[in-house]
Amino acid sequence: MTDTTYGFDTLQIHAGARPDPATGARQTPIYQTTAYVFRDAEHAAALFNLQEVGFIYSRLTNPTVAVLQERLATLEGGVGAVCCSSGHAAQIMALFPIMGPDKNIVASTRLYGGTVTQFSQTIKRFGWECKFVDFDDLDAVKAAIDADTRAIFGEAIANPGGYIMDVRAIADIADAAEIPLIIDNTSATPFLCRPIEHGATLVVHSTTKYLTGNGTVTGGAVIDSGKFDWSANDKFPSLSQPEPAYHGLKFHETFGNLAYTFHGIAVGLRDLGMTMNPQAAHYTLMGTETLSLRMERHVENAVKIAKWLEQDDRIEKVTYAGLESSPYFDRVAKVCPRGAGALFTVAVRGGYDACVKLVNALEIFSHVANLGDTRSLVIHSASTTHRQLSAKQQEAAGAGPGVVRFSIGIEDADDLIADLDQALSKAAS
Ligand SMILES: *Cc1c(COP(=O)(O)O)cnc(C)c1O
Repeated sequence: MTDTTYGFDTLQIHAGARPDPATGARQTPIYQTTAYVFRDAEHAAALFNLQEVGFIYSRLTNPTVAVLQERLATLEGGVGAVCCSSGHAAQIMALFPIMGPDKNIVASTRLYGGTVTQFSQTIKRFGWECKFVDFDDLDAVKAAIDADTRAIFGEAIANPGGYIMDVRAIADIADAAEIPLIIDNTSATPFLCRPIEHGATLVVHSTTKYLTGNGTVTGGAVIDSGKFDWSANDKFPSLSQPEPAYHGLKFHETFGNLAYTFHGIAVGLRDLGMTMNPQAAHYTLMGTETLSLRMERHVENAVKIAKWLEQDDRIEKVTYAGLESSPYFDRVAKVCPRGAGALFTVAVRGGYDACVKLVNALEIFSHVANLGDTRSLVIHSASTTHRQLSAKQQEAAGAGPGVVRFSIGIEDADDLIADLDQALSKAAS
């Protein structure tokens, strides 16, 4: 079922899925198989030549994973998706078809910490470079783009910092430069924000987080809007020029608006092997079925708890775009009208010591390096994920010693507030 005239709540359950043709099974089976029997030698040859679409080997495609790919493409309003083994894998997979040695991307300074490391350090090994720019300074974004820039990258809702990106303004800059805009939509999910409607070319996800929603499996996805003209100039030869590994096939000419997705499978997964396994796809499919219900509750709880914390004397500051005190409050209505997500940072009076005591004293909140779980989570970044950074780097990352980060779950908000209340008392003593 792919009819995008259905509402979000219907699509999150049905898109991509149909009763199993072999057994009638109503739930999507976990096709726990590595390979698929060819009808005959001609069939095998046609599949390997990309003349016919079908299943060959599960590094490339798998029926359970394919259902999730179609579901995520539909929820994001794209034409195709490729699932990967993690969110970080998805980011490399997203860049792979469009990058090359000495090419660069322009990325927001406000990104998930792991992405900052991936883009500032690891991608250099491929000869790729990243220039980090404040996305509220549109002139700086324009100025950072040069002849070798191949994409702009940002997060719709970015944590830390309670930041909301003006996706449309950055998309206009990408359009003028004839390069794709890639949005990491992990913190928002397509229920809160649909970046393609704001002009994004590609959307990446860590499905590990809200899409799966219960902290069970890592996964990622790359979704293509199908709207970018890869042949408009010579910047994207992997998509517009003959591919030697497929006898000179030109992906864009042959597959049209599915070129990027086909390349992701036929070259990206084939050679990089960052494949999602069917078991992970199953858990994530379960998660997507309740996405809207969970996101509504995540946001409702986050707003209630952030407001309660903001008026408490033991708290210095709450950084959350869902609060009127946030400089990004007005952007919420434009970019993510259903809410600013459920992640925020809190500066606690008493600094580092109070933060450590708070984290230790919380009972319902779990101290973990994750977000987007049904469970409420907390982390004191300065003593954990950002421990290796200098004090200056910690402040710049929004992870100073006096700050904790919350990922608000879907438990009873009053229970969470009571837990925070008792733990803050212990932290202040
Ligand atoms: C977690 C996360 C990632 C990385 O995803 P993994 O599944 O952990 O590899 C990327 N971006 C954002 C916004 C994230 O929250």
